[in-house]
Formats: sequence, C-alpha cells, structure tokens
Amino acid sequence: AVLEAHEALLADPELAGAVAADVAAGAAAPTAWGDRLAALGGELEAMDDPYLRARAEDVRSVRRRVLAALAGPGAPDEAVPADGPPVVLVLRELDAATAATLDPQRVAGVAALAGGDTGHGVLVARSRGVPVYPDAGPAAADVAPGAVIGFDARDRRFVVDPDEDTRRSLRELSAARAAEAERALARAHEPGATADGHPVPVLANVTTPADAGRAVASGAQGCGLLRTEILFGHLDDAPSVDAQAAAFAGIAEAFAGRPVTVRTWDVGGDKPLPFLPAPAEANPFLGERGLRLMRRAPEVLLDQLTAVCQVARDHPVHVMFPMVSTAEEVAWALERLDEAAAAAGGRPAGMRVGVMVEVPAAALAVRRVAQGLDFVSIGTNDLAQYTMAAERGNTAVSALADARHPAVLDLVARVCADVPEGTHVAVCGDLAGDPAAAVVLAGLGVEELSVVPTQVALVKARLREVTLAGARDLARRALACESADEVRALLAGAAGPADADRAGR
Ligand code: PEP
Ligand code: MG
Repeated sequence: AVLEAHEALLADPELAGAVAADVAAGAAAPTAWGDRLAALGGELEAMDDPYLRARAEDVRSVRRRVLAALAGPGAPDEAVPADGPPVVLVLRELDAATAATLDPQRVAGVAALAGGDTGHGVLVARSRGVPVYPDAGPAAADVAPGAVIGFDARDRRFVVDPDEDTRRSLRELSAARAAEAERALARAHEPGATADGHPVPVLANVTTPADAGRAVASGAQGCGLLRTEILFGHLDDAPSVDAQAAAFAGIAEAFAGRPVTVRTWDVGGDKPLPFLPAPAEANPFLGERGLRLMRRAPEVLLDQLTAVCQVARDHPVHVMFPMVSTAEEVAWALERLDEAAAAAGGRPAGMRVGVMVEVPAAALAVRRVAQGLDFVSIGTNDLAQYTMAAERGNTAVSALADARHPAVLDLVARVCADVPEGTHVAVCGDLAGDPAAAVVLAGLGVEELSVVPTQVALVKARLREVTLAGARDLARRALACESADEVRALLAGAAGPADADRAGR
C-alpha cells in the first residue's frame, strides 16, 4: 500500500506538470524535482490531520529516490560491490554527503577528478579513514571499471594496472606506513606534548557518532570541531532541539568526559543544508556563509544553541561560531547564546565559548574579535582560501590555497601574538593533521590541535620527537620561506626523529 501511494505520487499529473514547467524555465531536473517535492512535503507537514502529516514522510522518500535515480547508476553507493576486495572509487567530484556514506571497509580510496585538498567531501572522507586523492589527473579519468589500481593518496600516485615492481614497492610502502601507524598507536593514549613536556593536546575533528568512537580509540583528547552541518546534512527538515541535544549528548558520551566543541551551523559555500536554502550567489564562499546566514535565520541558530546549552549541563560541551569577520558579529552571536541560555536556565558553568578564525580580517583584528572569549580556533582551510583568494574546491586554483604558504603561517603567528590574554589558540584546519606542520603550529604558539581521527596518533608521535625550542626554530624557518613549496620542502626535510632532534638543538 505504501509503494502504491508512492506510485500514485509519481504519476500525479499536476506534480509532473509543475516540475516539467520548472525544467522548461531553465531549472536543472534535480533542483526542480527536489524543490517541488520539498514544498509539497512542507505543506503536508503543516496539516492538522495527523494522517496527512505522516504522508510527508512518503513524499520525502519519493523525493530522495527520484533524486538518486537522477544521479544515475554511477551513484557511489551503487558502484561499490558488497563483497570482494575493497575498491578505489573514481568520482568526478566528492561532495560531503556522498563522503559521509562511504564504508571504509569497502572503499580503499577515492580518486576525484576535480576539487582541492580541503574541499569538504575530502575532509569528511578522510575523517572516516578513507584516503582521497583530489584532482587525480588524466590517468584516473580514463580508467576502466574493474581495473587494478596502485593507489597512494599521500604521495599522489594513481597507477592503472601497475607492473610487478610497482606492486611490490607499493606493498612495501603500505607495510612501512602500517608499521609507523602501529608504533604511533601504541602510545596514542599519552597526552600530546613535545619531547620536553610542553603540552599540545591533540583532539579530533568529528562529523558523526561513529567518528567519535574512532577518534577516542585513536587517542583523541576530545573533539575540537564537531561539524554540525554535516552531522545533520542528510535531513530534509531542521532537526528539533531534542534531536540535536540527543546527537550532541551521544557524541559527548563517546568522548567520555573529554571536551567536545560544537560548531554552530556552517552552511553555505560547498555545504548546502536542504532545510536552510541559501540564495544563489555569484561567489558563495564570499557570500552568506556560516554565521552570516544565521542572521537571516536566527531561530535556527537559537534552536542549536539551546541544544548545546542543555547538553553542556551534563557534559564538557563547548560552543564555537564559524565564519566570523568582525567583533560586531561576535557580539551578535553572544547575544543569541545568552538568549538561548536564558531559556535553558542560564549559561552552563564550564561551557567555553569561542570563534573560528578563518577570515584574514578576524586574524588581523583578533585582539578585538576575541575579546572576552575563552578560545579561538584557526580554520586554516578557509584562512588559506581567503588569504590567497583561491577557492579551496576549485581545481584550477586549489594549489594556491595551501595553508603552508608563509602568508598564512604569518597570520597564525599574529593570532598567537595578538590574542587577548587568557584566550586560548587552537587550530582545527586540515593543516594541523600534517605531523610536520603540527610541529610548526606548536612552534608558532598554537596551544591545541584538532585533526582527523586517523592522524591523532601520528601527530602526537611527531610532537614527541621535538622540543619546544626545536618547534620554534622550525616555525621561524617556515616563516622565512618564500612559498608554500619551499615550506613543504622544509617540512619534508624535517621528517624523522634525527632531523627533529637537529631542529631541537
Ligand atoms: C577550516 O576552514 O579550516 C575549518 C576547519 O572549517 P571547514 O573546513 O569546515 O570550513
Ligand atoms: Mg571553515
């Protein structure tokens, strides 16, 4: 009966006519179908009759299945066989929603033909333990389904049908990396610190409850960034306060008393939310993103802050606002927080409040922007994109958006130097997950790092190999470089305990 109702909906001439009219007017088919069905679902949801209200779920289901059909048989969840050896997926582009569905047991890696190193799909896949090689080049574009692939995301290798020598060397490399990871994992539960005991806690960036479990097992000392827009990104309707509180509490419980920093909705750019449509903009990354969009939908932010305040009464849960450019925006956000907290019985004791530093203006004016805050967390992905004016997901320019560029490192150094006394500086951008770069960040004065769960142990291991003086020396040399490539070369040379010791001297 349910499927018959779905069929009837598909055959409804009024609905089909409306979608066809939208397509004729220039809308893409998925957009036309998605918008019309979302509107119909919304109407049903608003009905008094509980039976009709419940039909909204059918509409959502039909909406989703047709959208999946429009995406074609190449849709990733259909391309991955249920058994056999794990596969390397080749996609044109990896979006965050698809990345969140990848099964790390089945998908050994992803090669994306387009996109930069810090696109959100790439970050989500990596946080799930799936290596991604973005902008993988012509070899990946021509590969036939079922071909054997030699794949190394770290060193950017994608070899179709590798010969015996290549296979052997890749297997050896893989074994050496596994041994390195195992050594690091053996000490993963020690707190992050330099060789001379200077503490640098290493936390994890998390998007799902499953990530949280992986992060704790990998030695994460908490969660420095919970990307809520991805946690709830699959929903057609805004999650209620209760649903959000339950999800935050679940993640906080997985972290078992360790701190969890919830980032408020960071919608826009390459992260759409079905229930919070962003306007079509010529330059979405420079448009109504993150906190900016919340000013148009403060009730959505208030619900989230209410959920955070509720959970923060029982767990060490903190809150962080993204995409801040000015002190005035911070003041607005804090007013909303107080509004939400008042309804939940006041700001919970122990709840720390901070903002992300992702916009050069916020970095340069951190003294004003961070006034009265407990912490700032530097988002090097966006800070690099905005400093270099190079969109992080755009293949043509993504190499420019490299957070290792000395101009970006200089901004990190300034934040550490200028931040108001008592305000802590963390980094939760992808740069912190590169062990050698993590040493530079510690040397620049960053007090805490938050990285993809799979990198926690490796970052801790590298920090353990260098003294604080050595880290400062490496940071000074990185700042003196002329280009991101030069910094990369410096960091590659700094690899390994011997080099780290030399830097330490
Ligand atoms: C960043 O910009 O560095 C960051 C951590 O946030 P996101 O990658 O989610 O934009
Ligand atoms: Mg960001």
